[in-house]
Amino acid sequence: MIRRSINNLLNSRHHCNSSILFSSSSSSLKQPIMAENKPKIIIVGAGMAGLTAARTLPSALFDVSVLEAGNRIGGRICTSEFAGARIETGATWIHGIDGSPIHALAERIGALVPDPDLPWELMDGYPHDDISAVREGGRDVDDSVLHRVSTLYKTLKSRAAESPVRRCSMGSYLRSGLQAHLDSLGDGADAELEKSVFAIFEHIERTYTSADELDDLDVLNETEYKEFPGEHVTIPRGYSRLVEWLAAELPAGSVRLGRKVSRIDWSPAGAPVNVHVEDGEVLVADHVIVTVSLGVLKAGGLEFCPALPSEKAGAIGRLGFGVMDKVHVEVDEPLPRVLLAFGRGGSAESVPRWMGRTAGILPIYTGARVVHVWLAGKEAVEMEGLAEEEVVSGVQATIDAFGGGGGRPVRVVGMRRSGWAKDPLFMGSYSYLAVGSSGEDFDAVAEPLPGRFCDSSERPLQILFAGEATQRPYFSTTHGAYLSGIREAERLLQFYRRP
Ligand SMILES: Cc1cc2nc3c(=O)[nH]c(=O)nc-3n(C[C@H](O)[C@H](O)[C@H](O)COP(=O)(O)OP(=O)(O)OC[C@H]3O[C@@H](n4cnc5c(N)ncnc54)[C@H](O)[C@@H]3O)c2cc1C
Repeated sequence: MIRRSINNLLNSRHHCNSSILFSSSSSSLKQPIMAENKPKIIIVGAGMAGLTAARTLPSALFDVSVLEAGNRIGGRICTSEFAGARIETGATWIHGIDGSPIHALAERIGALVPDPDLPWELMDGYPHDDISAVREGGRDVDDSVLHRVSTLYKTLKSRAAESPVRRCSMGSYLRSGLQAHLDSLGDGADAELEKSVFAIFEHIERTYTSADELDDLDVLNETEYKEFPGEHVTIPRGYSRLVEWLAAELPAGSVRLGRKVSRIDWSPAGAPVNVHVEDGEVLVADHVIVTVSLGVLKAGGLEFCPALPSEKAGAIGRLGFGVMDKVHVEVDEPLPRVLLAFGRGGSAESVPRWMGRTAGILPIYTGARVVHVWLAGKEAVEMEGLAEEEVVSGVQATIDAFGGGGGRPVRVVGMRRSGWAKDPLFMGSYSYLAVGSSGEDFDAVAEPLPGRFCDSSERPLQILFAGEATQRPYFSTTHGAYLSGIREAERLLQFYRRP
């Protein structure tokens, strides 16, 4: 067990004859660090943020351990194989390629090279205007209606992003926009159809943001959240390829799986940081980087002693963290990619409630026999609680209610689903700006301890926080998680660079 203060470490160079180590990224360190006195860093969580932080801290300078509660790395990045295809149960897209560090990494390690042996979630044609929509019973939605409503939705969204409207929920903002649109329609228009088609875009919004209801989502989410410019693309070799690469570059043994951290003892007065692992082991560290999800922090799934300062706890409580789940099904015949316009008064009796706000049936590439449906909020939670057969029959009923494969019967023959809400290591999918929260709350979650919320010159930076929900304005994404890992590693490098 290594137990020493940072001051001891820095002083130790005067009476220690070990060699002084520098790595390429550390050559500018003003304060050399001795080989056997390397600061001990514990990173909690081996997702994108944790592995990136570990990768950024030179092993020549820091003794880094990554403690991961689960039995795999990657966290909310989880690529697997199903029905002869590579599927993503977690992150799917690189949201914008121009300047995205995730895109640069994927390109650099060859993850964007198509795999001739295994098809992947290419998602070609989605999301695009040329997608068609179908009503219950299998009737197509007229293209002009789809186009008109899609344009309305985009206009409302870009208006909200460009000239922030007075604070309100996204739900009420969209409803008033829709009402104004309906009022402008002539007498002959089918208002119910316009509403049903509008609801498709609301369902997509719920899956993109993971908000249970759009009434929970602050309209300011539109201005706070940023993506990189350019196309949104998927990763042919799988998203997990990225985290595998990050982990492979770490010294052997530095990532420890099955190590659930239950409590972190820190001390504004300057005692060392104790990291309690569920099996009773206690590790001592100079610094701990916590990367667990906002859902875990909200639920108190990781205890801090003393408790987190009220400013930080308040921000954690205010921000939104919702659920988005994916159900992948294997069908015996390819299905077209269609959006589903459910009737406003409720869907067909055969369609279960939890499928009634699904935006579409989406083959993972054109002609694929693997199709996915996305569920958000309480519908996702309900699906997670069902038996496999119930999920299969619910998806089957929905395919049937919307006319199957253009009149042909199409059978669901296999299913794989995510369960992000019920998994105690995540407790949801990603963060969003909830009504009552603000962009500053993301900054507050990122604030290290001791730091702005409780100063201590004795032993600063005992606990640092990384993860998607700490990275404004890139929250909820893999690039947000990645950048947050670099940010906290750089914070430590900067700390040891001090004159
Ligand atoms: C269904 C879904 C779809 C998504 N789609 C996209 C997308 O298309 N594009 C995109 O950019 N992003 C997407 N995301 C979001 C993206 O996956 C996340 O933002 C990102 O992966 C989060 O990384 P992280 O390191 O912050 O957290 P995590 O990946 O959650 O890593 C935290 C790690 O901590 C571990 N842990 C938890 N508790 C403990 C404990 N007590 N002790 C030790 N370890 C613990 C967890 O097991 C986990 O491995 C999606 C997410 C989901 C769930």
